[in-house]
Amino acid sequence: MTEPTTNQAALRDRIAAAIREAACVGDCGKTEEECRAERIQPFVWHHGRLAVVEGTPEQFADVVLAAVLSAVGARQDETAATETAALSPAERTMLTYALDQAQEHIWSRDGFTDEDQAAVDSLRRLTMEQPAIRARQDGAQR
Ligand SMILES: [Zn+2]
Repeated sequence: MTEPTTNQAALRDRIAAAIREAACVGDCGKTEEECRAERIQPFVWHHGRLAVVEGTPEQFADVVLAAVLSAVGARQDETAATETAALSPAERTMLTYALDQAQEHIWSRDGFTDEDQAAVDSLRRLTMEQPAIRARQDGAQR
C-alpha cells in the first residue's frame, strides 16, 4: 500500500503529463484558429520542456477528467488484483464452490434479481488469476 500523499503526487504528475501531451506541437494539420479552438496550446518552453500552456477551462477540464478517470480505473484494477492475491488456493476453491452453488440457485429458482446475478459475477472475478490486469497496469505507466 502506498501512502495517500504519494498517490496524490503521482496523480499530480500524471495530470501535468496529460496536459503537456494534450498541447499541440504544431503537427495536428489544422489551421492555427481551428487548433486553438480545440487544443491546449504551448506557450513557454523551459530547457526544452513545456512549462506554460494556454487553453480554455473546458480544455483543461477534459484533460484532467480523462487522467483522473484513468487513474481511478487503474486503482480499481489494482484493488481487484490485491483482493485476488489475498486469497489462498483453498479459499479460492471454496469461494468458487460457493459461487457455483449460488449460480445453481439463481438458475433453478425464482426470486433472484439481475442485481443478485451481478453480485455473483462480480465475486467470480475474485476466484480468477488476473495477469491481464497486471500487464495492462504496467502498460499504462509511462
Ligand atoms: Zn495543432
